[in-house]
Amino acid sequence: MINFKEVRAEYGKLICRKCLSKLYDVELLPKDCIYEYHYECPSCKTDQRIVSGLTTSGKLKTLFK
Ligand SMILES: [Zn+2]
Repeated sequence: MINFKEVRAEYGKLICRKCLSKLYDVELLPKDCIYEYHYECPSCKTDQRIVSGLTTSGKLKTLFK
């Protein structure tokens, strides 16, 4: 499972889908993600929609991560 608290602790903020996918070695699609924010991702330093949670499909994908 993706631990958003840990991600936030590591980067100071939440990160974008691409960075989250890389970090957890999983291919997250837009439909897997819940987006709440839009700001410069602290990991890739580009303006991104930020993933604040996962939908059911996203949770299933990351269940054993
Ligand atoms: Zn990023």
